[in-house]
Amino acid sequence: MIGVLAMQGAFAEHVRALEAIGASTRLVKTRQDLAGLDGLVLPGGESTTMTMLMERVGLLESVRAAIANGLPTLATCAGMIVLAREVTDGMAGQQGMGLLDIAVRRNGYGRQVDSFEAELEVAGLDGKKFPGVFIRSPLVESTGSAEVVATHEGRAVAVRQGHILALCFHPELTSDRRLHQEFVRMAKAS
Ligand code: GLN
Repeated sequence: MIGVLAMQGAFAEHVRALEAIGASTRLVKTRQDLAGLDGLVLPGGESTTMTMLMERVGLLESVRAAIANGLPTLATCAGMIVLAREVTDGMAGQQGMGLLDIAVRRNGYGRQVDSFEAELEVAGLDGKKFPGVFIRSPLVESTGSAEVVATHEGRAVAVRQGHILALCFHPELTSDRRLHQEFVRMAKAS
């Protein structure tokens, strides 16, 4: 059972991608929805809004605790920012949860290239490139103990730190399900 944080953003697309590969999903809107999950998806969207809404419904600390306690987590784009140790160019006072040892620059790919696609080589996949869809993505400026699993023009765009897989791009907006499959394997194995 994979929970998909449903505050705001691209959660419905993650649900569709996960169901397409046979996973059961549950929208996470309250603390109770976290009970008994095998994995959690933090979708793309707007990191500040997502964090603010989690705070408002009393989810922020429970989500942080669940992930800190080892709940396998797939974070995409805004979700990656939400987990990061350090966030620059965020809104005033914006902080990451500090669960993922990376420093990110919000909207770091710049305004002119707000959105782009790139074929990515992702470690652990079958060798065929993965279509990376980047939409006002965070730029990963440094990675501490997080392992880099894909790069684009010399920058990390996918990282793994134990039970957390975080991506600058949006696999849920493509028909390629390999990264969701990989995440479901992580969730089953934990
Ligand atoms: N720029 C957004 C943010 O700061 C992330 C964009 C996305 O998730 N596609 O949260």
